[in-house]
Amino acid sequence: MIDRTKLQDFHTALHTWFSLNGRRGLPWRDNPTPYAVLVSEFMLQQTTVATVIPRFNNWIARFPDIHSVANASEAMVLKEWEGLGYYSRARNLHRAAKAIATEHGGTIPFDPATLRNLPGIGRYTASAIAAFAFEKCLPVLDANIIRLIARLENFTKPVSTSQGMASIEGFASALLPEIGGRIHTSALMDLGSMICRAGTPDCLSCPLRSFCKADNPALLPVTPPRKKTTEVVEVRFLAVTPTTVYLLQSPGPRWKGLWILPPCTNPGEQPIVTITHAITRFKVRLELHLAAPDPHLTAFPLDNLPAMPSPHRKALAMALEKIHIGSTGHF
Ligand code: SF4
Repeated sequence: MIDRTKLQDFHTALHTWFSLNGRRGLPWRDNPTPYAVLVSEFMLQQTTVATVIPRFNNWIARFPDIHSVANASEAMVLKEWEGLGYYSRARNLHRAAKAIATEHGGTIPFDPATLRNLPGIGRYTASAIAAFAFEKCLPVLDANIIRLIARLENFTKPVSTSQGMASIEGFASALLPEIGGRIHTSALMDLGSMICRAGTPDCLSCPLRSFCKADNPALLPVTPPRKKTTEVVEVRFLAVTPTTVYLLQSPGPRWKGLWILPPCTNPGEQPIVTITHAITRFKVRLELHLAAPDPHLTAFPLDNLPAMPSPHRKALAMALEKIHIGSTGHF
């Protein structure tokens, strides 16, 4: 651990670097209201910063405060989330907004333990909201910070175990300042992402070089080998007229509540469209076959589609293009 007498120097080096080099243009940082931070943390759980920025801005324009989310229907929330994937996040954000509106008078709690009682908020998200929205000084352990701390401390045990994570948390706690949790956490995250990056870090540019104990940083942190990707085939059917498409509302668990292309048990010989997409460790090949409408399906106008998962929306668009139904509505 870094000597307590050097902690002030450590903070000065880190914060000076951050003030000159930290990431700019993150709307939830520029105006870190508790609501903006809450929304951004839900969106960032499984999506990159670059993808989140425009979607965050759209969301805030559509739902400017906690009450506007709480009062919206699930269909409206899912529609605004469309394309971001992992839709349980949208449903949890909706449920959390309702709980904040009804149980907390519309005020987002600042205490991590209370935050963790809200739907979709685990340990990491509660800490991140407490630090970014309320300036709390506590360890916020995302992948960038875990990597940075493991290298700073030359921690050569696996970080995937509860013991390993407890050690990283202990190291991170020892580095905390007394005030200013937002800047401290942002600086660690940015340094981990931009300088102490995965693979080979840029140690020559690192402001913390003199504090770092890593012998071979490219080998840290120690993590278990990645699971192999499994390939699966999904066969779906497309029932469509020049103006209408017939869809099925997913009963879940995957894509619960979203409108999907229905599963096909009796496909023709050649799919009209095939696309591949990844879900966790699965590589899915989606084959789409033309078929007649089924009475159990719901018809939607092609120019006003409901919330659909991205792979299905993409396969539908490609199929319509192929059979010459576009915005003009011609076969
Ligand atoms: S010196 Fe290198 S390994 Fe150590 S914290 Fe900086 S970038 Fe990471």
